Amino acid sequence: MKLWKPWQNLRFRLVAWYSLLAGLSMLGSDRLIYHEFQRTLLEQVDGALKVNAIQALKSLDDEVNTLLFDPRKDAPIIASLLSDAGVVILLIGNDGAVMERFGDSSMLPAHQVVKPGFETVLTGEGRWRTYTKEILTSRGRPSGWLKVARSLQPIDTTLQNLSNRYLLKLPILLGVVGLGGYFLASRALKPVVQITQISKQIRVSGNLAQRIHYRGTSNDELARLAMMFDEMMDSLQSAFEFERRFLMDASHELRTPLTALKGRLQVTLRQPRTVADYQESLHLIDHDVDRLIRLSSDLLLLSRLEQGHRYADQDLIDLSDLLAAVAVQAQPLADLAGLSFRTFIVPNLLIQGSPDHLIRLFLNLVDNAIKYTPAPGRVSVVAVIQQSRIRVDISDTGVGIAPEHLPHLFERFYRVEKSRSRATGGTGLGLSIAQEIVHHHHGTITVQSQPGHGTNFTVSFPLDVKRDGLASA
Ligand code: ADP
Repeated sequence: MKLWKPWQNLRFRLVAWYSLLAGLSMLGSDRLIYHEFQRTLLEQVDGALKVNAIQALKSLDDEVNTLLFDPRKDAPIIASLLSDAGVVILLIGNDGAVMERFGDSSMLPAHQVVKPGFETVLTGEGRWRTYTKEILTSRGRPSGWLKVARSLQPIDTTLQNLSNRYLLKLPILLGVVGLGGYFLASRALKPVVQITQISKQIRVSGNLAQRIHYRGTSNDELARLAMMFDEMMDSLQSAFEFERRFLMDASHELRTPLTALKGRLQVTLRQPRTVADYQESLHLIDHDVDRLIRLSSDLLLLSRLEQGHRYADQDLIDLSDLLAAVAVQAQPLADLAGLSFRTFIVPNLLIQGSPDHLIRLFLNLVDNAIKYTPAPGRVSVVAVIQQSRIRVDISDTGVGIAPEHLPHLFERFYRVEKSRSRATGGTGLGLSIAQEIVHHHHGTITVQSQPGHGTNFTVSFPLDVKRDGLASA
């Protein structure tokens, strides 16, 4: 059984991180507010203690050198008022002994360690804040200390309430944040879930036509991911369709000569024949087998080229010499067909590539030109440098190709006139192979044709600086 591991779930991890960060930032901000509040409250207490101390000092008897409140002044009234307000006032001698007290000071010790300024003291009844000030006589001599104190209990209770509220609020807010995060994560991951489901369906059903069609509310990252997935499926589907069609075409192309072969064999074997008959049949069978061999080797070459096999023999080739050699091979064929064959080839056209494949390319184009040009016609090969490229034109004054066929001419097994092409021994792969070879040499191949007037194939290769340098060297 498969164990559910929540940390392997992206939605769970997003929610957990989201809640953790939200919780930490809430705790941080609460703590900041708490401390700021505590500081403000303490400042208020300190301010009040200072005022209390000033008031108390004003009420001291400074004529007699004692630490008693002056009975002539309104000391008792002020003292009892302070006491009612929760303020404790102590008059302390230089030895630390408390000499006079006002207010409920039972929790403060009778003997005090005097230290001028503010202090927070922990007693049995919580924290107290004290302010100690030295008392000077009218002659400026120190005669003791005045200590004013207030309990911090009200402040501590307020602060405790505040932190209790924070603690109570935290799980509620975390719950809301977690739920919100879960909702947002689910929404955001919807296309991912869809992609997973559709991928699964495609794997199970093998139906490449399925798409996600997710566009989202805006063109966000996940919508773009879903779009990319759909686009990838488009190209996969068309590549798959292409391969399927190719397989069907290839089997059909192989079937035709094989059926013809089988027919011939059956007819020949039906009855005993003369030696001349057998010779004639074998001659025809030999022709069919030749066609099959040509077809299978064309298929093999095409599939190798399409798989992007790098040529082992990437040589620096003199294209001018190569074209001259092709012309030498083509001349007898043109003579036989009653055509005039002309060439104009600029010398030293250097190119990096495979000589075998380039010969195959140009022989195929010249061979087609001769095949589809009735006598007395003309076939020509012109090779020049034009706009920093090598340009080779193979043109004829033959039958030409109708415009509707031109866009499909380089497709595999595409023939303008099937019967005539087969009759001339063509496999329908010649131009596809030619195009692949041109692409492997980083070139382009285009065709222009006028039915009844002739056809012109233009092959163009880039002429880079290195080649140019070598060419002129
Ligand atoms: P095939 O091996 O049958 O000749 P190709 O791929 O070489 O196949 O050519 C495809 C089709 O293009 C041919 O069937 C032919 O009809 C047409 N074609 C090719 N070259 C020429 C040309 N120079 N003139 C007229 N038609 C041509």
